[in-house]
Amino acid sequence: MLVRAVFSKLLALAIPVALVSAIVGALGGREAAAACAVLLLTVAWLHQARNLLRLKRWLKAPSLDTLPQSMGLWEDVYAGLARLLRAQRQHATDLSRAVERFRLAGTAMPEGLVILDGDDRILWCNPAAERHFGLELARDARQQVTYLVRQPQFAQYLAAQSYGEPLILRTPRPQEMVLSVQLVPYGDNQKLVTSRDITHWERVETMRRDFVANVSHELRTPLTVLVGFLETLNGMASINHDIARRTLTLMSEQGTRMQHLVEDLLTLSQLESTQNPPREEAVDMARLARDLRDDAAALSGGRHRILLAVECGDWVTGNEAELRSAFGNLVSNAVRYTPEGGEIRMAWRRGADSEGPAFSVQDSGIGIESHHLPRLTERFYRVDRGRSRDTGGTGLGLAIVKHVLGRHQARLDVKSEPGRGSTFTAVFPQQRVAAVPAASEPLSA
Ligand code: ADP
Repeated sequence: MLVRAVFSKLLALAIPVALVSAIVGALGGREAAAACAVLLLTVAWLHQARNLLRLKRWLKAPSLDTLPQSMGLWEDVYAGLARLLRAQRQHATDLSRAVERFRLAGTAMPEGLVILDGDDRILWCNPAAERHFGLELARDARQQVTYLVRQPQFAQYLAAQSYGEPLILRTPRPQEMVLSVQLVPYGDNQKLVTSRDITHWERVETMRRDFVANVSHELRTPLTVLVGFLETLNGMASINHDIARRTLTLMSEQGTRMQHLVEDLLTLSQLESTQNPPREEAVDMARLARDLRDDAAALSGGRHRILLAVECGDWVTGNEAELRSAFGNLVSNAVRYTPEGGEIRMAWRRGADSEGPAFSVQDSGIGIESHHLPRLTERFYRVDRGRSRDTGGTGLGLAIVKHVLGRHQARLDVKSEPGRGSTFTAVFPQQRVAAVPAASEPLSA
């Protein structure tokens, strides 16, 4: 195609030269024809030479704006070059758009991405990787990654060249994090390092492990005692009635202890289930407080002075069963951790300033040292393990309180002084105050 086009253009040049030369030859003789042909060919050659020079100059900085204009064969050449240049520009634009799309996708990814060359130098990394490894692309590009990610396990993982399993890496900076790091070799000896922040999952996993260990431990003790008693009874040739009665009483205590533990565990699991939001109603807190005072009196069996002050008639929107269980735990703790002769003051009163009403239980009991206070609502956290167990505690009471209050957007304040007593206060937000039904009881303690 091209050859034919060039050939036809050359022909288009040769024919007029031959024709003009022939006419000049017919008029002026052979020399004149030869001179005319030489002249015409020289003009044609000068034209070609000029265009070649323009092309050479243009090729130094090819641009559509500066593309020379010409005629004949050169017009086709320049048109072809313009087409080529446009196609190349389009290709470059498509390519840079594709690169930009990948860069943006990489930047938006929550996982960290680092591209390393064959010598483990950083070629590129995304913002998540900058956060995970404390890198800064502008500063650290072309640096050896092991100079910057300095944990020895990372260097070993890189060197081992077996990347089947991810590496769990704890980073001390810029903030403490647990990362799952995976290396993927690709292309021409390059490597892609991906990192995922699994700090949260690691914490949940640790909590799960601790929880299972705690529950097993809590159940093992009473179970061991029960099994021991059963074996003793079983090994006796004849069962003495008195011994059997005493043993059965102790066994029943251990059974009750396990029962309480399982009940508290079920309560906690129900509270934690997100598919189980609390059924809400208007709760008469004054009546609930009076019920709790009666429960406290029954639990105390006359060993404590128990007082209730109902200074506010507010009802709250909430789940009565959950609130009863939470406040019941506060009251039972007050009774259990207050020696005989002590005093327990319960109150339902309006809060200060913009705060809603509060239910408080104050005791004159053993109190708690301040460093224990932040951890009291953790599951199975006990200040005095022996005392908690001896009084039938499961170590889950305050964890239940915390969950219930959380579901009601209320908070728990704890004030305590060793040897002087403690005050646990549940403070409701103002928006939890419910309208009091028309036919409700008047205020009275
Ligand atoms: P427990 O079943 O052991 O009482 P809780 O979760 O109810 O578990 O309480 C956690 C710990 O907080 C208790 O073991 C106890 O050491 C301490 N505690 C709770 N309430 C009181 C209180 N009123 N006075 C003193 N210590 C308390």
